[in-house]
Amino acid sequence: MKRAMNFGPGPAALPLSVLKEAQEELLDFAGTGMSVLECSHRSPEYDKVHNETAAHLRELLGVGENFKVIFLGGGASLQFAMVPLNFLFGDKTADYLVTGTWAKTAFKEAKAIGNAVAAATTEVDGKFARVPKQAECKLTPGAAYLHFTSNNTIFGTQFHSFPQTDAPLVCDMSSDFLWRPFDASKFSLIYAGAQKNLGPAGVTVVVIREDFLAAAKPSGLPTMLSYKTHVDKNSLHNTPPCFAIYLVGKVLKWLKAGGGLAAMEKRNREKADLIYGAIDRHAGFYKAPVEKESRSTMNIVFRLPSEELEKSFIAEGKKLGMVGLKGHRSVGGIRVSCYNAVELDWVKAVAQFMEEFVKKNG
Ligand SMILES: *Cc1c(COP(=O)(O)O)cnc(C)c1O
Repeated sequence: MKRAMNFGPGPAALPLSVLKEAQEELLDFAGTGMSVLECSHRSPEYDKVHNETAAHLRELLGVGENFKVIFLGGGASLQFAMVPLNFLFGDKTADYLVTGTWAKTAFKEAKAIGNAVAAATTEVDGKFARVPKQAECKLTPGAAYLHFTSNNTIFGTQFHSFPQTDAPLVCDMSSDFLWRPFDASKFSLIYAGAQKNLGPAGVTVVVIREDFLAAAKPSGLPTMLSYKTHVDKNSLHNTPPCFAIYLVGKVLKWLKAGGGLAAMEKRNREKADLIYGAIDRHAGFYKAPVEKESRSTMNIVFRLPSEELEKSFIAEGKKLGMVGLKGHRSVGGIRVSCYNAVELDWVKAVAQFMEEFVKKNG
């Protein structure tokens, strides 16, 4: 078996050791004589996995019991609605930083629910080449929260320092959650769809600070759309996505065993430097649309001199075993996603391929 070098934006590569472990346990989970896929979500064996996954996450984030970890379905997209449904009611206003496709979708959803305002947007002609500077953010005094997207998966931009605000900070970290150590205690709510940097599709991790949860709409929400339901029931109000949570638990264990978030950051920076290095060495050939200060370490986007060359870059890469290099259909070009589980050797191979490609076609 030859393993693909998977640079897909999501669902994305998972650590090989995690897949092997899951494979080994697939037919007999924790001595139950059945698969975790078949196990009751109320069984003690599953319960252990469920609680350990939340504990690993708290440990990696360095937060205490005042941060509640819950596992939800519906993808990050459901959070676009759940955040305003729970926290944007009555005469409240919420600030949004509009920095890309997902941020824009989150903002649109919030506007349909309550008074959401764009505190900053970096959109120019339908494109985003950077994240805003602090001074550009027109923050609403007394806002219910400030929502931003730490990494813009499609346009390849990333916040390298977080926005400063007096309002509760809410962040969509779907595509860069746990790529490095950060001060999670500054956040009131973090959510991340697992299928980019954390595990398989099907589960979204939400981390909520207790004091923020206390400010949620007290009544009138459908049960399943209220964060309180899921916190009170430890994500077991209904059947959770057990298998996805089980895999997230294994990925978190893998992160810890590999030296934690500090080691992950070092490796991720090394990977990003390899690709940006190749882009910058051949700036006449590879065009980076993103301003340097906003460059993403997770999703590295660039253009070639023509769409024809982009097509042959993708095709030749595929022959070398590299998949998922095509940019998002809305923006075109090339995107190399370098999430935590993407191996350094794969990235070295792409960087080398970029050198050879420019020699042949430049
Ligand atoms: C992929 C992505 C989403 C959408 O995630 P779903 O789980 O498919 O709903 C939202 N935000 C960001 C930043 C993403 O990268």
